[in-house]
Amino acid sequence: MGEITVVGGGLAGAEAAWQLAERGHRVNLIEMRPAVMTPAHRTGLLAELVCSNSFRGASLENAGGLLKEEMRRLGSLIMAAADATRIPAGGALAVDRTRFAEFVTERLHHHPLVRVRTEEATELPVPPALIATGPLTAGRLAASLRAFFGHDHLHFYDAIAPVVYAETLDMDLLFRASRYGKGDDAAYLNSPLTEEEYDVFWRELLAAEVRSGHLPEDAVFFEGCLPIEEMARRGKDTLRFGPMKPVGLVDPRTGRRPYAVVQLRQDDAAGALYNLVGFQTRLAHGEQERVFRLLPGLARAEFARFGGMHRNSYLCSPVLLRPTGEARKAAGLFFAGQLIGVEGYVESAASGLVAGINLARRLDGEEPFVFPRETALGALMHYVTSAAPDRFQPMNVNFGLFPPLDFPARGRREKARLLAERALTVLEKVRQTIFRK
Ligand SMILES: Cc1cc2nc3c(=O)[nH]c(=O)nc-3n(C[C@H](O)[C@H](O)[C@H](O)COP(=O)(O)OP(=O)(O)OC[C@H]3O[C@@H](n4cnc5c(N)ncnc54)[C@H](O)[C@@H]3O)c2cc1C
Repeated sequence: MGEITVVGGGLAGAEAAWQLAERGHRVNLIEMRPAVMTPAHRTGLLAELVCSNSFRGASLENAGGLLKEEMRRLGSLIMAAADATRIPAGGALAVDRTRFAEFVTERLHHHPLVRVRTEEATELPVPPALIATGPLTAGRLAASLRAFFGHDHLHFYDAIAPVVYAETLDMDLLFRASRYGKGDDAAYLNSPLTEEEYDVFWRELLAAEVRSGHLPEDAVFFEGCLPIEEMARRGKDTLRFGPMKPVGLVDPRTGRRPYAVVQLRQDDAAGALYNLVGFQTRLAHGEQERVFRLLPGLARAEFARFGGMHRNSYLCSPVLLRPTGEARKAAGLFFAGQLIGVEGYVESAASGLVAGINLARRLDGEEPFVFPRETALGALMHYVTSAAPDRFQPMNVNFGLFPPLDFPARGRREKARLLAERALTVLEKVRQTIFRK
């Protein structure tokens, strides 16, 4: 049997390659790093996490937690890596980013049916193939995609959050706690602000110099990932109801809820690095130092990584793709990851899992499988391939994408629990009837 080309060794491509190989297919995984780098990646490792080290909520009461559980049950490589390299993060699943990427890289390099090649793909490969080149798809391949689909890519811009060294923080002014005491208290450091401190911080943030970079005047931001200074411009209290919300946190030194709080999340297993949660920004580097050092406990903070701006490209999937991940106009050509308009590490890997399984089915002479919408995998793929094309924007998985329950539930938590139960029951049937493994 010939080799299947998978282009892009990120979250989606790594998962897809694994699913194909585990189903007995030879995979030629083409990843351009480290020979050619993207503006956000820093290593040559497969499945590198470019920003946060969090895979978000671990509980089945949120749709992201359910999606992760479904992936585990279908033999996901990305979830195996995340579970093996997990670090404390309260109710979230966070990983040591280096060990995580090394785990994925080693598994794929050692798989007898996977060959990893360092090379930039400049043209769309001949099917059977799978493209998962992500939001930072290199230029020539992007041009080839545009030519093939005759349909322009859509573009928007994302900002990434800064990371500081723990040893440069003043621990006397910070306190450790998870919101509502959920999970492990050691995971978050909190910087509490009084009303006066918040006022000064907000004014300085508004006055700070923004780096325009290569952004057009009308750059559109993804609502779920607005730069902090952009949020500040929307009103004085916007941050207090967003990333600086104090709810569920009590400062042990005052016994009271602070006026506002900045949470810092552990970023590596050793606890040497912390990221400023929700503080994605495009402030000039010097301004990031000046303004963020106004936060209590950060006066002498040294930055391991500054926040920044990046391009984010995605296809108009509602027009171009089937819910199996296959291109409407070319049988055997599959797409996955952020390039198809899912948002987030887990969602990207999940779509890689779906597309990988379905390409394997195509090769085995079976029809690609549409995951039922009752499952998180199905709900996500359904959204991406059936949203209104003119308003299509990348989306994280959420319970709003699922078909409603047939009966009323008491409250949101109960509803979430019932939706998750239904999803896992349906998934089990899918697994037994459809998959051989
Ligand atoms: C700056 C930034 C920050 C983000 N932060 C977060 C976050 O904190 N949390 C979160 O959940 N999501 C985040 N995302 C969104 C998204 O989850 C990630 O981008 C995720 O990595 C997407 O997975 P992917 O597999 O689709 O793409 P990637 O993980 O980017 O993988 C694509 C791979 O394809 C390679 N490639 C590209 N073009 C070519 C080519 N022509 N030939 C060969 N190889 C190629 C790249 O080198 C890369 O390794 C962020 C995105 C960006 C851009």
